[in-house]
Amino acid sequence: MKATRPSLKDFSRDALRADFKERGFPAYRADQVLSWIYAQGVESVAEMNNLPTSLRTHLEEEWDTSSLSRRRVEVSQDGTQKFLLETRDGAAIEAVLIPEERRNTLCVSTQVGCPLACSFCATGALGFTRNLTTGEIMDQVIRAREVLSEESAITNIVFMGMGEPLLNLPAVTEAIGLLTDPKTLAMAPRRITVSTAGLVPQIKPLLEIGPINLAVSLHATTDTVRDELVPLNRRFPLDVLLGSLRSEPLLSRKRPVFFEYTLMRGVNDSLEDAARLPELLKGIPSKLNVIPMNAHPDAEYEPPDQATCDAFTQTAYRAGLRVTLRRNRGADIDAACGQLAARDKTALSSVIS
Ligand code: SF4
Repeated sequence: MKATRPSLKDFSRDALRADFKERGFPAYRADQVLSWIYAQGVESVAEMNNLPTSLRTHLEEEWDTSSLSRRRVEVSQDGTQKFLLETRDGAAIEAVLIPEERRNTLCVSTQVGCPLACSFCATGALGFTRNLTTGEIMDQVIRAREVLSEESAITNIVFMGMGEPLLNLPAVTEAIGLLTDPKTLAMAPRRITVSTAGLVPQIKPLLEIGPINLAVSLHATTDTVRDELVPLNRRFPLDVLLGSLRSEPLLSRKRPVFFEYTLMRGVNDSLEDAARLPELLKGIPSKLNVIPMNAHPDAEYEPPDQATCDAFTQTAYRAGLRVTLRRNRGADIDAACGQLAARDKTALSSVIS
């Protein structure tokens, strides 16, 4: 698949309407095309049977309907599915589908690699290649949806895969627009969560998109430790990051920040760390998600034992925080937090799902 033609999935409804109009097609035809792609899951232009032949010919000759090819799906013992996807220019990315009793959450990537180089993260170890386009973000949803049964749907989207979403805010904003568009996927904004390592200037513009959820990768309670784990902390240290959240009027108890805290043995898992958290998060509507480290070859960190994880969580809870100790999902297929590395890019051409 070569990226020589525009992809229909790179366009918002308004942008596609404007483009069609310029080319002499009525704007409402754009609505029909997007409805075929997103609401009905049809990418073959030949099957879009309410379009005139002239438009179908134009779409077939000038446009691509797909931005990603699915190369492999790995299924974890716990039902988590990891998708290895190939972009039109041959880059490899991953998305992870996490089925639960009442919902199916898809974790999507926003960059090929990541420039932020968090020391515990397999994606960070890859370095950075480029931002994903809107279409490449949207196609992760479409490619994942194809493996679900007709009765199932993707109910929640988390922008927590490869890359820092706020370094690709224009494409993320467009993708959220398409996900929530009533005529495409019609997702409720509260079912969408965007994670950041703490890119302070971009947080307000993100929250202004709509009532989506914000997640912040915290991972440490002192600047010394966070500088090591999340090098972005040297630009936006804890007092700057947390101070900006404390004074952010768009956050509320109904719309709290989800702080992600990956527990690493001997690094950030002490009871002193747990006891420092309430003071650090004071004044910020928040929920704390504690996640034991998922070991992988690109980082030297290990998870603490269960007793340490429990004691850490209990200490934070008794101090008044809303806290959840998360279970690892998909760790056996390297699909858990911090493990996404699209390692087998070289095998892309030989592996078919
Ligand atoms: S944790 Fe997130 S921000 Fe940090 S390197 Fe990994 S993908 Fe990038």
